This record gives sequence, structure tokens and C-alpha cells, in this order.
Amino acid sequence: MQSAGGPRNVTDKVKKELAEEHPSTALFREYLRIRSMHPEPDYDGIVNFLEKVASELDLKCQKLEFSKGRVITILTWEGTSPHLKSIVLNSHSDVVPVFEEHWNTDPFAAHKDEEGNIYARGAQDMKCVTIQYIEAIRKLKAEGKRLPRTVHLTVVPDEEIGGYKGMEIFVKQPEFRALNAGFALDEGLANPSDQFTVFYGEKCIWWFTVHSVGSPGHGSRFIENTAAAKLFKVINSLMEFREQEKQRLESDPRLTLGDVTTVNLTKLGGGVAYNVIPSELTATFDLRIPPTMDLKAFGDKLQNWCRSAGEEVTLEFHQKSMLQKVTSTDESDPWWKAFRAPCRELNLSLKPEIFPAATDSRYIREAGVPAIGFSPMNRTPILLHDHNEYLNEQVFLTGIDIYTRIITSLASVDPLPDEC
Ligand code: ZN
Repeated sequence: MQSAGGPRNVTDKVKKELAEEHPSTALFREYLRIRSMHPEPDYDGIVNFLEKVASELDLKCQKLEFSKGRVITILTWEGTSPHLKSIVLNSHSDVVPVFEEHWNTDPFAAHKDEEGNIYARGAQDMKCVTIQYIEAIRKLKAEGKRLPRTVHLTVVPDEEIGGYKGMEIFVKQPEFRALNAGFALDEGLANPSDQFTVFYGEKCIWWFTVHSVGSPGHGSRFIENTAAAKLFKVINSLMEFREQEKQRLESDPRLTLGDVTTVNLTKLGGGVAYNVIPSELTATFDLRIPPTMDLKAFGDKLQNWCRSAGEEVTLEFHQKSMLQKVTSTDESDPWWKAFRAPCRELNLSLKPEIFPAATDSRYIREAGVPAIGFSPMNRTPILLHDHNEYLNEQVFLTGIDIYTRIITSLASVDPLPDEC
């Protein structure tokens, strides 16, 4: 039974909590409550939110729409030397769908538990980062700071479905070139240890179907040159390669998933009846290739495996990324040095890696702008796209301080030789 005063007390408790909550956390939770989930993300809600932030912080706000309903919002903090190349802080506003029955709380309520864990879709991927950028700029402005280089906060749609109507179109527009970007930050991944993972490149995705055409016939005979016999040869070649790459990863502790090629057979197709040898069979593969691989040579190798399996074995590509640009992590690189320095001062242990999947950074790098993928979430399990995705409030708030230092350092890089 509930006491008569119960509901009022609850309201008071919530009000008290809200009044006491760190304003950055409150803003984060407000942003998490916008249902920007595929297949129908509330992008209007996102744009309204960002416009409100821009006016609060007195930042210039640009809205670009290259594809209907897919608005790219850019908040700009002009530097004292606006002719110098700018710093782009990129994030995407969309989130992947949820299976609500597997969640312990409403994934769009941004519930915070007693340990300060904030549960919501997008808590890690990557609404935290958008708010951390905003709050870092808020802090710097409140301290009366002005930085030499201009800082652009770009918030893009549709990353989770390939970025085709988001970052991929945007980098090809004059509006992107007008940003005069010198360096960009984009999303990374959580790290369960004390370390912070930073990504300087991404794997190339190759999805293809092997079509094998052979002699058909009755299922009671030994037919030569069947589609199955030839397809098996190609599957075997790919599976052997898979095993080699797996061994390579397991035998060298310095390697991560980003350094080797993953190979997976994801679909098999063909056949018409129990007793008919089919004239065509197919096998579809998902390969993730490190950007350090010679893609041309690897493509030739694939073709060779098909050729040596027999005649009429062909490849059909559904996705064949040749985007291989990686960002320098050489100590002599001015941008990397500027990223690294504040991390050293804060005693953050960085772990540079190749991103095991794809993000919008690949488009940014391909447009000639070096980019680092970094989401400051250590001591945090990797829960992106997972049920009960959460981020701890303390990790979130520490991330704001980290960005405050990193943004200051990047936007203060001395004029480069080509900028004088
Ligand atoms: Zn993401």
C-alpha cells in the first residue's frame, strides 16, 4: 500500500535530483531522450536541440540539407586567426534500433542508476561525444578563452546506415571545403581497461558473391564439372586464408582485430530440387581488410582463386571499399603531436588502432583531412549497438575535461608551412 504522501514525495525527489544534477549530465540526458533511432530518426528534434545550444553558446549555426530531411548542422566557434585551417569535431546524431524486451529500462528515458550509470541507446554511440564537445566549448568560453583556429562542430545524420545521405555527400560539397578543415575528431570505442583506444584508420569492407556455374544433371549420377565442386574450391581457398589470418592474430599479442583480414561466409544460395544437380550455386562473403593491405594485389588473388576453381566462376561485388587513407601517428606530425600532448599531461594511456568496422571518418580522411576516432570512455564495457547500452556519469564528465584540453591544443597548433 502506498502512503498518501507517496507520489508527492517522489516528485520532490526527482525535482531535487534534477536541481542537483550536473548541468552537463542533464543536457546529455535531454539529448539521449530524442528518439533519433532508425528507421525513422527524429532529426527535427536533433536540429531544434542543436539550435537551442547554438544560441545559448552564441555559436554560428548552419543547417545544410543535401538530401531531404537529412540536415547536417554545423555550430561554429570562430578563432582569432580564422584564415588558418580549422578543427572539425564530428559526430553523428542517429542511433541504431533497440530490442526493447532485452532492456531493463526504457532505452529513451536515459535512466541513471545509483552508481551513476546512464542507460540509453546512443549513450556510447555517440551522443556522449556530441555533448562533451559542446560542454568543452561552453567551459572554454566561460573561462573567456579564445583559440587561434576556428572550431566547427559538425553533427551529421545517417552514419548508422552508411552515411550515404550524410557525411559521404557532405565531403563532396563546396560547403565542406569552405570549412577549410585541417584536422578532425570523430567517434571511437569504449575500452574496458584503463587505456583509451584511438583510431587512425579503418578497415575496408568487401562484400561479394561467388557465382559458380556448372553442368546440371540427374542427382543419381557422377556428373563432371558441377557448380558445387567448383564453388567448394573457392570456399576452401577463402577458408584457408581465414584460418591463416586467425592464426596470425592469435600468435602475435601486438596485433588487434584491426590488423588482420576477417573472412566470413554469410550466405549460400542455389538449388531447385532434391534430385537435380543445379547449374548455379552461390556463396556470399563478408571481408574486413586492413587499410595497410595492397588491395589491388588482394583483388587479383581473389580472381585467381576463382579462375583456378574452373571455368564460369565469377565474382559479383556488393561493396568494395578502396578507401585506404590512414592518419599519421608519427611524433613529428603536428596534429598528432597536438592531440597527444594534452593526453600525456593528463596521464592518459592511448592505444592507437585500426577501427575494426566503418565510421564516417573514412569519408573525412578520403577528402584529405586527417581524422582520429576517439571517444573518451575507459573502464567501460563496449556496448555500442548492444542491449542496455550505458555510460557512467563520471566517465562522461571526465571526458569533457579531456576534450577541453585536446580542443585547446588542436586549435592552437602553430601555422603550418602551407598556411603562411
Ligand atoms: Zn557511431
